Amino acid sequence: MRPDTKLPKVGTTIFTVMSQLAAEHGAVNLGQGFPDFPVPPRLVDALTRAMQAGHNQYAPMTGIPALRQAIAAKTERCYGWRPDADTEITVTSGATEAIFNAIHAVVRAGEEVIVLDPCYDCYEPAIELAGATAVHVPLDPATFAPDWDAVRAAITPKTRMLMVNSPHNPSGAMFTAADMQALQDILRGTDIVLLSDEVYEHIVFDGARHESALLYPDLRERSFVISSFGKTYHCTGWKLGYAIAPPALSAEFRKVHQYNVFCSFTPSQHAFAEMIMQEPEHHEQLGAFYQDKRDRFRAQLAATRLKPLPVPGGYFQLVDYSAVSDLPDLEFARWLTVEHGVTGIPLSPFYASAPAGQRLLRLCFAKNEDTVNRAIERLSKL
Ligand code: PMP
Ligand code: GLN
Repeated sequence: MRPDTKLPKVGTTIFTVMSQLAAEHGAVNLGQGFPDFPVPPRLVDALTRAMQAGHNQYAPMTGIPALRQAIAAKTERCYGWRPDADTEITVTSGATEAIFNAIHAVVRAGEEVIVLDPCYDCYEPAIELAGATAVHVPLDPATFAPDWDAVRAAITPKTRMLMVNSPHNPSGAMFTAADMQALQDILRGTDIVLLSDEVYEHIVFDGARHESALLYPDLRERSFVISSFGKTYHCTGWKLGYAIAPPALSAEFRKVHQYNVFCSFTPSQHAFAEMIMQEPEHHEQLGAFYQDKRDRFRAQLAATRLKPLPVPGGYFQLVDYSAVSDLPDLEFARWLTVEHGVTGIPLSPFYASAPAGQRLLRLCFAKNEDTVNRAIERLSKL
């Protein structure tokens, strides 16, 4: 065997590494992003009934019609535009599969994909497997806002795709209407495909509007917009999501999906179809639900020497730990887990090249009060 790897930069993800370390040391795990409270009972009940009713075989490749119809209705309710359920919506095994498919559907070997650092960890490996190159453009290190001039300057004749993520993991930063205008201006007249990762679309705070690419006709005609039921319904382990794209892009996307997984977990498709149709307003309380958690967590952090950064959306709180330690973030995260029993996620793995001297840790507040209280009790001793 040739001792070779197609992904020399890839090891075990930081989420897995930190979750394992947390388990070994009995630490409160505010690292990997997952809720520790229950899935809506109606959804669990619908899933159980779907299995009992015999919905246990392959679903149609693109997703069951009832779910695609429900997604079309939900999209119209949220963004005032209804995608065609047959030609523009594809159900996937989580957002991760959708991101992989979208990249492989359109990006060829030798082409370039612009990503905005820090960015989610699954982007670059998928780009590299396509034989393409990720071009990293940094977000502002203080505010995590995009620098559109830098994005424009990074475009070359080889640029095939631009990937954006709002609300943003890990910072929680959100695109403004001005960002969406800049995005349209930059892409106009190019063949660049936009991949808009909107998995935290409903977790937005303080009355802000989520600026979906679907709100802008100029953008949606060139975009894959990717959503995840895992975030919206507190069930990250069910791994169901979807991609919305114009018919021609969806057709290419489906060619990859067809031979990647063929179809996604059938019973949960029935469960989400029922849930969305019966409780179409579910996602509308999600912002308030998480805003309450965010506000309580931030108030409690005041009792510690960790300095919270603003959180416009998503369920992660960045904290500046420079008053506590000068360790680099990977070492700090390990030290905090081993010595103080609280686990967070360092930011440097989200970068090709992290800003020198950055002392930030990501803490997930999608947690029960009890979990947060235990973490704060430990963090206040730092
Ligand atoms: N994109 C971002 C920004 C994420 O944070 C996540 C998961 N936390 C994903 C994509 C993947 O979502 P899924 O679990 O549905 O695959
Ligand atoms: N998306 C989750 C996070 O950012 C992690 C998911 C995973 O472990 N792959 O924490």
